[in-house]
Amino acid sequence: MSSASLGPCIVCEKQDSPRCLRCNSAFYCSKTCQRIDWPVHGLLCGSFATFNASSRPTEEHFRTIVFLPNNKEPQFRWIHCKWLPISVSRHSRAYTFLVDGSARNKSVASIIATQQGDYHDWRGPITAYGKLGPEPSRLCRDLDMNDFRHIADYFLSYGHRLPQLTPPAQQVAAERVVFSMTILAVIVVAAVAILLCY
Ligand SMILES: [Zn+2]
Ligand SMILES: [Zn+2]
Repeated sequence: MSSASLGPCIVCEKQDSPRCLRCNSAFYCSKTCQRIDWPVHGLLCGSFATFNASSRPTEEHFRTIVFLPNNKEPQFRWIHCKWLPISVSRHSRAYTFLVDGSARNKSVASIIATQQGDYHDWRGPITAYGKLGPEPSRLCRDLDMNDFRHIADYFLSYGHRLPQLTPPAQQVAAERVVFSMTILAVIVVAAVAILLCY
């Protein structure tokens, strides 16, 4: 985690924003931006606040974020740098999540549930980790709550399709039926009124 007390707002990128008072990690320029980010940030803010940064097992362990299939909330975890791959072909790997029989990833599901839309069906355990410098890099770095927002945005943009805005054909047809029945009812009422007048 960067030691600077001010940084760019994670929502609107406004410079010199203070940190979240609870996790002391993500930067927010205002309560409004903090509220916008809370559905995602809230999944991990408390966990980061209580994560013991001085419990690093060795200098070669780094703070990663794990998304486990059966946990609704992601978690921070120390992982030894040598276990983190130098580079990952995300796309080819992501596609196998759909066909390898792995359980649905509930941690990622919690993130994509914060926004409407049709998303990629992430499966199996997923670890997000930080690397320093250009790929291929052997140097690792700790992830923090600012990274978590970017990771969440990755899940929220990968294979995302906008919610259907035009009503389905069946619904349009049903509306037409209601409309013609209303016209029929008006004609009947008018006919009854004419009959009563005579
Ligand atoms: Zn802001
Ligand atoms: Zn926080």
